[in-house]
Amino acid sequence: MKSKDYTEIYVHIPFCARKCDYCDFVSFSGCKDKFDAYFAALKDQIEKTSETVGKLPIVSCFFGGGTPSVPDASYITGVLSLLKEKFDFMPDAEISIEVNPNSANLSKLTEYRKAGFNRLSIGLQSANNNELKALSRLHTFEEFLLTFNNAKKAGFENINIDLMSAIPLQTIDSYKETLNKVLLLKPTHISSYSLILEEGTPFYEKYKDAPPVGEDEDREMYYLTKEMLKNAGYNRYEISNYAKEGYECKHNLGYWRRVPYLGFGIAAASLYKNTRFQMHSDLDRFINKDYSSDTIILAKKDSMEEFMFLGLRCTDGVSKEEFFKEFDIDLNEYYKDEIAKLKEQELLKEEGDRLFLTDKGLDVANYCMSEFIK
Ligand code: SF4
Repeated sequence: MKSKDYTEIYVHIPFCARKCDYCDFVSFSGCKDKFDAYFAALKDQIEKTSETVGKLPIVSCFFGGGTPSVPDASYITGVLSLLKEKFDFMPDAEISIEVNPNSANLSKLTEYRKAGFNRLSIGLQSANNNELKALSRLHTFEEFLLTFNNAKKAGFENINIDLMSAIPLQTIDSYKETLNKVLLLKPTHISSYSLILEEGTPFYEKYKDAPPVGEDEDREMYYLTKEMLKNAGYNRYEISNYAKEGYECKHNLGYWRRVPYLGFGIAAASLYKNTRFQMHSDLDRFINKDYSSDTIILAKKDSMEEFMFLGLRCTDGVSKEEFFKEFDIDLNEYYKDEIAKLKEQELLKEEGDRLFLTDKGLDVANYCMSEFIK
């Protein structure tokens, strides 16, 4: 089977213990009274969708949020078992769940593992408790350590740790210390993103005129991540994602390679039959079983652009052969000028069938990717 014959599944759990001041994800705190109704609607949406699309082969499934570990584990395992009944999960399907330290105790983690989750993503962000407080996160580094050890006890071998750079109070040294502390744990996967000040968040109002960390330091942290993780044996396979060999996140790779995916829950996106769907973000409408989405049917040109700007996020870039198979167009011909320009600037390289950004190109990835939008 070719990779595009598979489908991925994303499930959005929009609940958090408290809203973080920098967060613009669709998530709500203090809605315990809505859990029953939300999960009932989620199951209903899954059943209805499966009746329409059939028993598709599933290569990966990701429960994200929000904080999926906030509701009781039985809500989550109930949804996963329904998905497994309605879809054809491949024997080696990657099944991930995002958790936060203080909502994921040993018993929850054990239930997840038993239900079939085989990858965990823990939102640590920083190993410095003052920085965590400044981010308005509820956990401490010590609580994270407990969660990490409990995850191992529960049988999780494949664990991602999420980090953030350029956050309030952070210095180059404190970021280095965070990386060192995380590396001691030898997780299979590490993601590190710079803080983005999203409009409409309390952080935006507070820091829009004076970001917590200057541009130069932010850049230095980015280079530090690359260097330290490389030295520790992690392969950088995407701009902000690093993995031990064989532990690259299949689910995210699927997004970047435009594998079709079905999204369930509010605000979930889907890519199916060359159409992008974006579910609305209204909890009450969803609970009342309104599953309507905005729909964009992708023209060939849009799909080709997506192929390029998503694919070039990955360090192994894009395949010219796959491009041809999908669009019946020669990539080198269609993007002749763009390729020549970026090669000339030493930002893009071609090796055999693959076209990929150089190290220098990855450092200015947004510029490079925008070149492919005609
Ligand atoms: S825990 Fe994550 S999803 Fe929830 S508010 Fe904080 S950043 Fe947003």
